[in-house]
Amino acid sequence: MKTFLTIAFLICLLGAARAQSPDLVIYNGNIFTSDSSRLYVQALAVKKGIILSTGTSEEILRMATSKTKKINLHGKTVIPGINDAHDHPGVLIGDIGYNYVEREVPGPAPAAVLDSVSRLVKTCKPGDWIKGLIGLSILKDMGFRQKLDSVAPNNPVFLFAWWGHGVVFNAMALKLAGINDSSKDPVGGWYDRNPASGEINTLNEYAGWNAAETYYSSVPDPIKIKGLKSYTSQQIEYGITSIQFMTTYAMVPAIFEENSAIRTRIIPFTKTTDASRNLGIWNKVYKTATPLVYMSGIKYVIDGTPFNESSLHSRPYPGNSHWFGRLNFPRDTIKQILKEALASNRQLMMHITGDSTFNTVLSLMKSTGTYKQWRSRRVRIEHNAAYSPDMVSQIDEIKNLGLLMMHTPMYAHQSPLRSLIKKGIKVGISPDGLTNPFVNIMIMTSQQSNPAENITREEAVIAYTKNNAYAEFAENSKGTLTKGKLADLAVLSQNIFTIPTPALPQTRSLLTMAGGRVIYSSK
Ligand SMILES: [Zn+2]
Repeated sequence: MKTFLTIAFLICLLGAARAQSPDLVIYNGNIFTSDSSRLYVQALAVKKGIILSTGTSEEILRMATSKTKKINLHGKTVIPGINDAHDHPGVLIGDIGYNYVEREVPGPAPAAVLDSVSRLVKTCKPGDWIKGLIGLSILKDMGFRQKLDSVAPNNPVFLFAWWGHGVVFNAMALKLAGINDSSKDPVGGWYDRNPASGEINTLNEYAGWNAAETYYSSVPDPIKIKGLKSYTSQQIEYGITSIQFMTTYAMVPAIFEENSAIRTRIIPFTKTTDASRNLGIWNKVYKTATPLVYMSGIKYVIDGTPFNESSLHSRPYPGNSHWFGRLNFPRDTIKQILKEALASNRQLMMHITGDSTFNTVLSLMKSTGTYKQWRSRRVRIEHNAAYSPDMVSQIDEIKNLGLLMMHTPMYAHQSPLRSLIKKGIKVGISPDGLTNPFVNIMIMTSQQSNPAENITREEAVIAYTKNNAYAEFAENSKGTLTKGKLADLAVLSQNIFTIPTPALPQTRSLLTMAGGRVIYSSK
């Protein structure tokens, strides 16, 4: 009896050992885990895409069997897969357009754009959409649409500010979007009109995004999918394994169909009408999910941008002592948005860039919910770029409300980073289109206006991985290279923790894995 029990016990142990034997080990590495209790390990073992164990190479290799695939890292640096927490797919999707890559606030010269558009008109069919990026000089030129109409009478034209705030449509595009010169401003946005003719020239904030949906709907899914695929192929070269797309509805079917190798969170960006926000269309797809693509949360743009002088500030804009900017939504609507966030489990993400906007939102949050309620909601403030000159009282409130400060490195050089982290506030990274994570890491660690606010590269990687997973309520499954988490990781071309700062942007992934599966290899 005793012998039988011992044998049974041994068989059990063997079974357990087999269940625990990894199908993959990677060893002999400089593996940064993003887990502050043990920041570096040499090796890790993976089974069915999940990390079984981490430790020294010796410990981990001991777990391997003859069937285990072994990867010798030869001392290379590994980080958890990068999570790009804020991007907008589709901004550049579509085939017919001109290129503008300089990304300066004034943008391309009006004459140059008219010239490009008239040349494109000659090469495409009547009715084909033409698109391109612009800047302030065209957004502010109230006679531009008229000129556009004269060079493109039979083609809809979509011109989009390269930073995403501000659209110019020609007459044919406006007609397709159901907008005429007497249309009322939609909720969250407004039209700027030519003062002489009364014609709509510039479509601001939600007025622009609502209209842009007409363009995105016109692009056939195969072209969208092709564009998304080529984008994905760049992302995995940078070690990105998760992406959070804030997107209009017209992109959703293509995102699902692209069946990306990258884990994708779709965050609804709602359209509005002249009477209300239009949530209905999203309710149908909230529950749709595949192993790699799911939908959650909701994004609102509460004010504009400093470029457009449409962020609401406590101090006037230079050169106009009466202009402080504006809110996109009336206070009552913002209050309603906050109430919806408390009543539902849809995580609220708010684009806020003016300090007065931020103060308004903070006080409305205080009047609609308790600190405890708000902390459980993990409300995200996108861009981390809206501080009052004194900052201190806002930072206390951020902490109390449990806000996640989603820093956009290219726009937020002035903002505190180190002070927030010191205070125990969660800082994530919302790149907003700047895909190369190593450029963003370079900015956050060396280019803050106040050098005392630069953070360390380790803190930047933690923000990009662990905190960005927390920012999508996914910290139990990813974000650190620790037992029980998905084996999402990147083997890097250089040691980003020790190389000189200017070398950071050249970093690439040599091998990107999602769930233990190789999704990119440089060889
Ligand atoms: Zn954005």
